Formats: sequence, structure tokens, C-alpha cells
Amino acid sequence: MAVRLDQERVGASSMAEQLLRNIGPIVLLGPPGAGKGTQSKRITQHYRIPQVSTGDLLREHVKQATTLGVQVRDIIDRGDLVPDHLVCDIVAWRLREPDAQRGFILDGFPRTQVQAVWLDAFLKFEFFEKAIWACWLPIVVRIQVDYNKLLLRITGRRICPACGRIYNVHSQPPLVDEICDVDSAKLVVRDDDREQVIRERLAAYERQTKPVAEHYQRLNRVVQVNGDLPVDQVTSLILEAIDGSTRSVAGSKN
Ligand code: AMP
Repeated sequence: MAVRLDQERVGASSMAEQLLRNIGPIVLLGPPGAGKGTQSKRITQHYRIPQVSTGDLLREHVKQATTLGVQVRDIIDRGDLVPDHLVCDIVAWRLREPDAQRGFILDGFPRTQVQAVWLDAFLKFEFFEKAIWACWLPIVVRIQVDYNKLLLRITGRRICPACGRIYNVHSQPPLVDEICDVDSAKLVVRDDDREQVIRERLAAYERQTKPVAEHYQRLNRVVQVNGDLPVDQVTSLILEAIDGSTRSVAGSKN
């Protein structure tokens, strides 16, 4: 019993620590299918910071048929990138929300060098110059996965339309084929996960995102993680990298 109470106390204090600590900006880089969505959700739960996925934000606009949604629907369906200024606007709007002040995970952004340069300037102005954070540059976690494994992963991806939970028929299948474990909804394939769109998405990633990784490599902010490893192991490596990096930022402040 005493042991259990001690464990509960440790659990409670580390949860309180996570709630108080400034984590700062985290960028997850990786091609479609690298597991960014899954890992983002896990990091979010661990540090209690929001996940900001530009893909999700854009899809929500499309679903609600907002002016932006109508503007970008065809671009997303083709697997092309949405123009930088439109994506930067929705990111700025989202990062000014109160829940993002301790930090956030950017999933799917920045995807081009223009977006990366914009992000650095935005974070410096919004968080460093207002004395909210000691360092504005993001920790960039780069998840790397073999190309053929990526194709297999993406074609196996299924999403629950009701709760948003992500499955994979190869690596993380639901208990019952094509049915969500949580709410029994029939799982769906995202429109842009269909075979003909995938190659274009991977090509767009290669063409445009490499300069983003290089940009942050020059700033010494990139941590490489092997995304071919089992999903739990990838999570542990990412959390270690973030803890190491936020500690070194806190240390350099003193
Ligand atoms: P994702 O869910 O991150 O794979 O994004 C789905 C689609 O949304 C992409 O194929 C793009 O059309 C669009 N998109 C998401 N994030 C960005 C971004 N940072 N820049 C441009 N387009 C984006």
C-alpha cells in the first residue's frame, strides 16, 4: 500500500511538473506515413501541450466549407502543397491561442523553407521578445523511414471518422477488421492516402521539405529518429530527445 502511495505521489508530481514546465516549440519532420500523427498524439499527452497539425486544420476548413476550405480543397485532393501564406496564417492564428503558451507540437509544418523562416521570425516575436520563452528556435525531430515501408504504411492506414483514432492494417490493426475499437464506427481511408496521390505527396515532401531539415541542421536543432523501430521505441527516443533539449535550453539560461 505504502509503495502504491509513493508511486502515486511520484506520478502526480511528475504530471504537475509536466503541467508547469515550458516545453517550447517542437517540430516533427518526416514524410507522409512516418508516424508523425501517432507520435504527436503521444507527445501531446506526455507534456500536456497541444498538437498543431496543419493537415488537420486544413481538412477542418474543407469540411466546414469556409472560404479557405473552398480555396484549398482541390490542392489537397491533388496532393499538392497549399500556398505558404495561407498555411502561415492559420498557424499564426492557432499558436496565439492560450493553450499554446507553454509549447506545442507542429505536425506537418513547416514544410517549405519559406514556412521555416516565417516560423522562426514568428516564434521570436511572439514568445522570445515577450519574455515567455528563453529560446524560440524549435526542437526539430526528424523521423526517417525506408521508402518502400512508407508506401506499405500509407496504403494500410485507416482512420475512425467519429473519434479520429488512427490504425494501420499492417502494424496497428483494430480488434475487429475495419471497425474502430473505441466506438465501433466503420474505419475509412483518407482521400489523400489513396495510391495515386501518395507518390505525388512523397515527391512533394522530398522536393520541398529537405531544405527545411537543412535549415534547422545549420542551426543545430535537428534530432534524427529511426522511424522503422517499433512505435513505442520511437516514442521513447523522441521524449528523450525533447527532455535533453529542453534541459539544455534551461541550463543555458543560467
Ligand atoms: P498532412 O495531413 O500533413 O499529410 O497534410 C495533408 C495535405 O494538407 C497536404 O498534402 C497538403 O496539401 C496540405 N498541407 C498540410 N500542411 C501543409 C503545409 N505546411 N504546407 C502546405 N500544404 C500543407
